[in-house]
Amino acid sequence: MEKVTDYFGCNVFDDRIMKATLSEKVYKSLKRTIDRGTPLDISVANAVAAAMKDWAIEKGATHYTHWFQPMTGVTAEKHDSFISPAPDGRVIMEFSGKELVKGEPDASSFPSGGLRATFEARGYTAWDPTSYAFIKDGTLYIPTAFCSYTGEALDKKVPLLRSMDAINRQALRILRLFGNTKVKVVKTSVGPEQEYFLVPAELYAQRKDLIMSGRTLFGAMPPKGQELEDHYFGSIKQKVSEYMADLDKELWKLGILAKTKHNEVAPAQHELAPIYSTTNIAADHNQLTMEVMQKTAKKHGLVCLLHEKPFAGVNGSGKHNNWSLSTDDGVNLLSPGETPYENAQFLLFLVAVIKAVDDYQDLLRLSVATAGNDHRLGANEAPPAVISIFLGDELTGVLEAIEKDIPYGGYEKEKMQLGVDVLPKFSKDTTDRNRTSPFAFTGNKFEFRMLGSSNSISCANIHLNGAVAEVLKQFADELEKADDFSTALHDLIRRTISEHKRIIFNGNGYDDAWIEEAERRGLLNMKTTADCMPRICDKKNVDMLTSHGIFTEAEIYSRRDIMLENYVKAVNIEALTMIDMARKEIIPAVAKFASDTAKGVSVKASVSGAECKYEKRIISELSGLVDKMDEATSALEEAAAELKGIGEAVPASEFVRDNILPKMDVLRIAADKAETLTAEDYWPFPTYDKLLFGVK
Ligand code: ADP
Ligand code: MG
Repeated sequence: MEKVTDYFGCNVFDDRIMKATLSEKVYKSLKRTIDRGTPLDISVANAVAAAMKDWAIEKGATHYTHWFQPMTGVTAEKHDSFISPAPDGRVIMEFSGKELVKGEPDASSFPSGGLRATFEARGYTAWDPTSYAFIKDGTLYIPTAFCSYTGEALDKKVPLLRSMDAINRQALRILRLFGNTKVKVVKTSVGPEQEYFLVPAELYAQRKDLIMSGRTLFGAMPPKGQELEDHYFGSIKQKVSEYMADLDKELWKLGILAKTKHNEVAPAQHELAPIYSTTNIAADHNQLTMEVMQKTAKKHGLVCLLHEKPFAGVNGSGKHNNWSLSTDDGVNLLSPGETPYENAQFLLFLVAVIKAVDDYQDLLRLSVATAGNDHRLGANEAPPAVISIFLGDELTGVLEAIEKDIPYGGYEKEKMQLGVDVLPKFSKDTTDRNRTSPFAFTGNKFEFRMLGSSNSISCANIHLNGAVAEVLKQFADELEKADDFSTALHDLIRRTISEHKRIIFNGNGYDDAWIEEAERRGLLNMKTTADCMPRICDKKNVDMLTSHGIFTEAEIYSRRDIMLENYVKAVNIEALTMIDMARKEIIPAVAKFASDTAKGVSVKASVSGAECKYEKRIISELSGLVDKMDEATSALEEAAAELKGIGEAVPASEFVRDNILPKMDVLRIAADKAETLTAEDYWPFPTYDKLLFGVK
């Protein structure tokens, strides 16, 4: 057996390969660019390109691609071969620094939300040297950012890098105030836990809804769901375990730190978590992970569903965004320290995050809003659409003591003096309440749990980084002016706790009472994408995002439209798929079963004079349901036709929320009821029991 340490990262042009293949001068210059963002000289780019090409060709690659993340939610790539004609009719393999640094894909076929109308159709991709190049399927992949010719971001990476820059600038100001002159860079790190479902490929192929929309649009609950709680952390089935082993291996070859795997709550649901890394690398790796998950599943006769809600009635899939902030000398700024000085600094960063989440609840909510994720958030599933922060009782107690200037219970009798006292040791919170929170402090990081399983993690982190950067800026502005730093710091922390403690909630997020309580506290509860997405254009949000250079105003409006259009398109496809399945599959099947049953009645009655109570009831109920489905389908058809006529993104999304989705529900309820009355042989596609329990 091959050893993991032998093949880990074998397809990655990583630091080890750079050191081995580049001259010392080129290597050092590239390292400076990677670590500190200093501009790269073209001669250095040429040398790196040559080394990359030789290494890639050695590994069997014939092509290279600039790999980027347009607003479609998936990644994009255009492959060019290395070949270049030689005078003697043969070819040589070439790859220049210019080709490494910049690509020019036609931007006109990617969503730009109006930016294209105002600017040129051409776009360019720019190498992101902080994320390693890698080889996949015979092609050298170069991670890049994607912009219009005039510099507008057309992707998710450009604003992500800008947001990391913003938080770096402001966090450094704070550290300087604490007398720290050594730290050069502060970076955010993310470890995204990824949930997914596996279903047998041959069953998937028989369901138009799964093929077209990634989720089941019809389906009655089987007798068994997740109520026995026997799946979570349960022993892993052979076929799944083989899949997971293969997946780990493929990810490791790509240098992805796949670490943990286990069964999740719902039947057929699983999770994979990597070890955390710098946010832009984590984002690249998560996109790659989702791709490799789907590809590897095919090899095993399975399909990997990344949709947020593939099945009604059992848990959906999310992605937990574990987020922290650390310095280049390895200090986690969200980790309670050993000394009073470190503790004061920790508390300042902690309350900064609390204020940021409270001030920008809307931005965080909308950063994870998609048609798919709306089925989890605000739909009786964790977490709710209301954003709150879990801190645990101990830390909440400390903040309370600071705010009210009273002794901290359980800890000495003394009042806490910032910068003088050491914080008590917090034991890791292991309560179940924590798991229901949308935004939980877990010892030395925050876990943002609202992301959907298919979301790119970029959007959530752009807004989170931006919000925290803004608060750190306000803090730095205030503290830099202060005559007495300690007093000003103490006042600032106290005031922040008192103004923003409404966002802290340590109770059970599943509880309906919490939603009422949240309303009393004035927290936002935005259930759908249509409700929250337009708020990205609120003045407060535009001011924050533009002042930190994360987005231009034009980019913000374009993103609102793109995200709303994606929502409208996704639901529209679902509606059309439902119409198709109802008209061509479900209604004919149910009608046929009813009429076959009717034929049986006449035969039976003529022979025996039997009453045929069962048959008559079934025929009557099913005929009623067939009519209902027919009506509901027609109503949905009309609504879908009306939607076509609405051009603007905001009214279209509202129409989807108010007209299309409720009509889809009416059709589904009738069809699911019919499923429970129709003989299994007649049902036109595989049912939930087979999909959820079909993998052996
Ligand atoms: P759990 O959520 O089950 O308690 P862990 O805390 O071990 O599990 O980690 C969950 C995820 O959080 C993993 O991807 C892990 O790498 C990541 N993580 C751990 N520490 C940090 C950190 N300081 N910053 C960001 N992510 C982290
Ligand atoms: Mg977790």
